[in-house]
Amino acid sequence: MQPFVYIALPARVVFGFGTAKQVAQEVTRLGCSRALVLTTPQQVAAGEQVQADLGDLNVGIYSKAAMHTPLEVTLDALAQAKALGADCCVAVGGGSTIGLAKALALHSANSAKLKIVAIPTTYAGSEATPIIGQTEVLPEAIVYDVELTLSLPPQMTVTSGLNAIAHAVEALWAVEANPIISSLAIQGIKAIARSLPLIKAGPQSKDGRADALFGAWACGTCLGAVGMSLHHKLCHTLGGSFNMPHAETHTVILPHAVAYNAPFAADAVSSVAKALGVANASQGLYDLAKENGAPYSLKALGFKEEDLERAAELAASAPYPNPAPLKKEKLLALLRNAYEGVRPL
Ligand code: NAD
Repeated sequence: MQPFVYIALPARVVFGFGTAKQVAQEVTRLGCSRALVLTTPQQVAAGEQVQADLGDLNVGIYSKAAMHTPLEVTLDALAQAKALGADCCVAVGGGSTIGLAKALALHSANSAKLKIVAIPTTYAGSEATPIIGQTEVLPEAIVYDVELTLSLPPQMTVTSGLNAIAHAVEALWAVEANPIISSLAIQGIKAIARSLPLIKAGPQSKDGRADALFGAWACGTCLGAVGMSLHHKLCHTLGGSFNMPHAETHTVILPHAVAYNAPFAADAVSSVAKALGVANASQGLYDLAKENGAPYSLKALGFKEEDLERAAELAASAPYPNPAPLKKEKLLALLRNAYEGVRPL
């Protein structure tokens, strides 16, 4: 028997094909009537479609969302939200756009807090977590519309899928691991692993895309529910201190983080292998990325060899819970393997 504490997060989830058409109902259900649509510059067309679906509830679009939620973008968007009298935002996009929505909710918390309807179009999982920097904001509603993911480019599909799997893998060995989240984690890994070959064979595969988005929800829920460890810490270090790209870095690091922790998290790692349908979890994750066309080395992502040492130092500096002890020399070896892109043993 595994004793546990489990706190369910309160978001409403709507999942299906064409569900973005129901966005007006979701806004009304929140008691809102003036929605500001948020997108990146690359997804204006998707945002305009949602504006049309909002009808009279639409007050405008802000389309400058960017990676890592820059403060000047948040303040600019906040000024637009105030000028338009928005009472909620509808974030159409990946983690960057949903991050902007969370930042707006946070910055407006002292006056009229903007509510959030998230319409995720990647598998990053931000919509299902309250995480924003050091504080917490959770979208009130998530509308998963598989149709909106059909346009996710093939390589981003694989890296974003591996980004999602990383949440599930770390949930399985988390200090707060519990049977509900572990079962979601396994379902999420299975769904994404089975989706990627289908999407590679046909990017418009409805079964593949539906599985991948369901997996994204399951894995995102894991990220929101329990603490993450070595893998996320390393990716956070590489993203924050070396400006490495988010999903691609997760993809490259994950097999090596699993190999590092495997001797100290045997049950979790064996569950990952089983969910992937392979004998060795770290090799299975490496093959899943490589065979589906994702980058598999830090070198290929432009990381500089001379930065390996400093990255290992940073990753070993602040202690955090992790199955295997965090030793600088071992972390350096992990990072070097990831840099070279070798298949884990
Ligand atoms: P992203 O949101 O930066 O999107 C990458 C690019 O893909 C953007 O140009 C975007 O417009 C485009 N795109 C997204 N969906 C598309 C689609 N369906 N079709 C065509 N183009 C599409 O990438 P991401 O990986 O989703 O998010 C990364 C960011 O999210 C990072 O800043 C990361 O730190 C953050 N994040 C936060 C959490 C959290 O819980 N707080 C979780 C995961 C990620």
